[in-house]
Amino acid sequence: MQLGWEWARDLVHYPNGIVIFVENFNQPKMERKVRVRFAPSPTGPLHMGGVRTALFNYLFAKKHGGDFLLRIEDTDQNRFVPGAEAYIIEALTWCGLVPDEGVGFGGEMGPYRQSERKPMYKKYADALIENGFAYYSFDTAEELDELRKQAEADKQVFSYDLHTRKGLKNSLTLSKEEVEAHLQGGEHYVIRFKMPENREIVEEDLIRGRVSFNTNQLDDKVLFKSDGMPTYHLANVVDDHLMEITHVIRGEEWLPSMPLHILLYEALGISENRPRFSHLPLILKPEGKGKLSKRDGDKMGFPVFPLLWKDPETGDISRGYREDGYFPEAFINMLALLGWNPGTEQEFFCMNELVESFDLTRVVKSGARFDPEKAKWFNRHYLQQKSSEELTQLFLPLLKEKGVTADLQKLERIVGSIKERCEFVKDLWDQGHFFFQAPDSYDEKTVRTKWKADTSEKLQAITAFFETISDWKATPIKDAFSEFMTQKEWGFGAVMVPVRLALVGSSSGPDLFEIFELIGKEETIERIRKACEVIQ
Ligand code: GLU
Repeated sequence: MQLGWEWARDLVHYPNGIVIFVENFNQPKMERKVRVRFAPSPTGPLHMGGVRTALFNYLFAKKHGGDFLLRIEDTDQNRFVPGAEAYIIEALTWCGLVPDEGVGFGGEMGPYRQSERKPMYKKYADALIENGFAYYSFDTAEELDELRKQAEADKQVFSYDLHTRKGLKNSLTLSKEEVEAHLQGGEHYVIRFKMPENREIVEEDLIRGRVSFNTNQLDDKVLFKSDGMPTYHLANVVDDHLMEITHVIRGEEWLPSMPLHILLYEALGISENRPRFSHLPLILKPEGKGKLSKRDGDKMGFPVFPLLWKDPETGDISRGYREDGYFPEAFINMLALLGWNPGTEQEFFCMNELVESFDLTRVVKSGARFDPEKAKWFNRHYLQQKSSEELTQLFLPLLKEKGVTADLQKLERIVGSIKERCEFVKDLWDQGHFFFQAPDSYDEKTVRTKWKADTSEKLQAITAFFETISDWKATPIKDAFSEFMTQKEWGFGAVMVPVRLALVGSSSGPDLFEIFELIGKEETIERIRKACEVIQ
């Protein structure tokens, strides 16, 4: 049989009579078109870990000339959050991870929203029952709760599994007539997977290598409910099959579901072309143990979501990378290196370079520690890459907010003179507000240490000298000023710091002669005079 895959499965016979399928562990030969999916549930804003999952799927697809799909897994209507789906689509679009198919993007294999696929799943659930791989369970929520409580009292954990199912109310223990009566009576039921006894499920995860599970440790998961909705497990497997997904790349938290999914493919008779699995490492807190959470962000002052999110119920706002002023290319570059490395020293990657270099086998197994400072560092890099023209355009809305209007060419020069001090567009204001507004206060420490008894007198002389300069451009001012200083035999430092203080309000900032030119002769003289008055 031609599978089209170099890694076709082999049968392995165990001494105890168990036979399992095992992959032969070569890389897949890309004969089938690579198709991967990002399959979030619309239960809230997308965590940056989710964006990284989408990114790795996207990179893998593009690297292999494949398709990247967006499937919305909304089978759990209780957890549905309005606005979450639109948020996911907007976030992916902002990041440049535009799906080839999916909710909001069209495609031949839709619908891509699971709630709209509802009628498709029943026949798979029925087939599982018919072939003995699943069963009806009629236990009520209250009954199961009671069992949970009892188990807790005995310091045990209740699990609906191959040990307990024999004593519970299900189609394995009830007679055919009783089952029929329950179903006819329209009683609440769920369909559960009948986890086989003592099987070893072995899989070669493309990131983790060989992982194995014994089915005795696994419970009988619910696959389908009497409201006609499948659960995540059934819908996910059926859809990956119908959408011809070749590789499942998802977070580590889904690893425990993998044996069930593998068994479902097998039970449904659709194992042959089933996807290969890869489970991405967790993103860890900047400090301490555990997974990066929204609380870490709130505590340490960084976003964990790509875009700002307003909780529709509580109205609570969570900050987003976009609104905090990160460039999408910086956010993506930072995320790409959370758990993946190119094997070289290279740190800056545009999307095309990421596609080129990406390799699932270079994704690490252990958790990847998030460093908020590194995120800023990437932003600084991408800001420096932008031309002053482009940055000025990005700066204009903020200037408008501040009520500042200025000639575009002049703005571009201002931006050019301060951009190297900036990480974010908003820093352009912090670093350059004095180009537009005279300082309303002067840094006290600088005043104390640098404003001497004779400073005002010297500055008065300088303003008088400035009056005589006609070519008010940085270079001629600098030349004339140097000559003036040499004549006076004044130390540069003793004069320049107070002048800067007068113009800027503090002792730091860009080149002073640039500032002279850009704010103009009159304003320069005016500010120096005012400082002399105020500070004296
Ligand atoms: N709906 C799951 C989630 O919310 C998808 C897991 C998977 O990719 O299989 O992450």
